[in-house]
Amino acid sequence: MSLLAAAEPGSPRERMVREHLAARGIQDARVLDAMLRVPREAFVPAFLTQNAYDDRPLYIGYEQTISQPYIVALMTEALQLKGQERVLEVGTGSGYQTAILALLCAEVYTIERIRKLSIRAQTTLRKLGITNVQFRVGDGALGWPEAAPFDAILVTAGASELPRALAEQLAEGGRLVIPIGPLGSQTLHRFTRKQGQLLDEKLTRVAFVPLISETEAGQPSESPVEPSSDEP
Ligand code: SAM
Repeated sequence: MSLLAAAEPGSPRERMVREHLAARGIQDARVLDAMLRVPREAFVPAFLTQNAYDDRPLYIGYEQTISQPYIVALMTEALQLKGQERVLEVGTGSGYQTAILALLCAEVYTIERIRKLSIRAQTTLRKLGITNVQFRVGDGALGWPEAAPFDAILVTAGASELPRALAEQLAEGGRLVIPIGPLGSQTLHRFTRKQGQLLDEKLTRVAFVPLISETEAGQPSESPVEPSSDEP
């Protein structure tokens, strides 16, 4: 059986999708299907396997977290992916969100500043047979200029403001989803590029670990890093 087979009815993953995602308003059938297929237990440390389908963030080492499944679904749905897109993700982390994106678009470009997390995510995705992902280690606030423009951009860490490079790398018609605000009090924004302008929609309150960047739009690298609740 494929490692990305849909979860059986009544299994912990299927219950997570039904009770925590669909019941709370996630409607995009492709997003729900991807979340049924990707085994979250493959992305968490062994001692947290039992908690893999809790609807909360979990510790993945290096003072970082894998995001809460509901928030992963909400952010993915906000990108409005149809299948042909090239997507930039900032903050690879465990690679769980990356895997969800990979099932929903043509190509994912993902950037992580912590090399060991990126390498671990690359190994996990390779084991799952996911091949449409390009990885980079570095400052994601700078984007990936050589591969731009992107149809969708997802930032999975909280920024103090919208990084200018990411806005510039968004294609016409593209969507950029990013938490913005001070630590512990961020708002999830969706920016849409229409006729060269950026439309700004505020989606919900969230709490993410900080985007750590030396660019003018990022946080200084000595910012405190608290375990994230990723809660709306
Ligand atoms: N989406 C991830 C998952 O499914 O596991 C969780 C992401 S975690 C909440 C945020 C990640 O962003 C961390 O791994 C952190 O190291 C990374 N990060 C923070 N600032 C970054 C930056 N400037 N460039 C790239 N990655 C960054």
